[in-house]
Amino acid sequence: MTASDPEHKMQLVFSLRSSGVTDRRTLEAMEAIDRRDFIQGIFADRAYEDMPLPIGCGQTISQPSVVGLMTQALDVQPRDKVLEVGTGSGYQAAVLSQLARRVYSIDRHRPLIQEARQVFERLALHNITAMTGDGSFGLPEQAPFERIIVTAAAEDPPGPLLAQLQVGGIMVVPVGQSDTVQHLIKVTRLKTGFDYEELRQVRFVPLVEGLGKN
Ligand code: SAH
Repeated sequence: MTASDPEHKMQLVFSLRSSGVTDRRTLEAMEAIDRRDFIQGIFADRAYEDMPLPIGCGQTISQPSVVGLMTQALDVQPRDKVLEVGTGSGYQAAVLSQLARRVYSIDRHRPLIQEARQVFERLALHNITAMTGDGSFGLPEQAPFERIIVTAAAEDPPGPLLAQLQVGGIMVVPVGQSDTVQHLIKVTRLKTGFDYEELRQVRFVPLVEGLGKN
């Protein structure tokens, strides 16, 4: 079964819409990418439920409604270069690849990057570059980015990422201490300074310094 099966497609679109995801391009991108491709093993059967699921290295694939809300808030344009911090399974990057010119995605766990690369290859998503690294420093050699998305919770939006955001660009980042209340924040870079908008409460794994041990 894939997301192109009418029943699963309807289930996905229903949970997205009831969570407030109404943007047509976001819905189309999420219909084009099958979440099941990004979940291995015993949890694969639950790919179409609106829940986070374990993916290895102690991490989780985000729930579809949160991926939808973050994608919608990011308002990606076709010529945009996007940076994602927290590749995880690669699902969010794959959704963004449908909307952007190029997606750079960084994760601190090498095994997750290796698996995500294989899925991108298999699905012929050639506009994604996935790399192992500490994404809190961004990717200076490719900066500035029109859009930045962080899929792990930071105490504050990391300074290097703010610095690598293009003027007029948007960053979406969950902010707050892990296991307490986190808020999804939309940051817009203005000519001088930044505008901050609080979107909703979320729960993400924490942004951790340095590379994973495995
Ligand atoms: N976007 C993912 C879900 C991410 S879970 C998906 O669609 O499946 C959060 C990810 O952030 C984890 O894989 C974790 O390893 C990664 N992470 C945490 N701190 C990081 C850091 N400093 N740099 C890069 N990745 C980090």
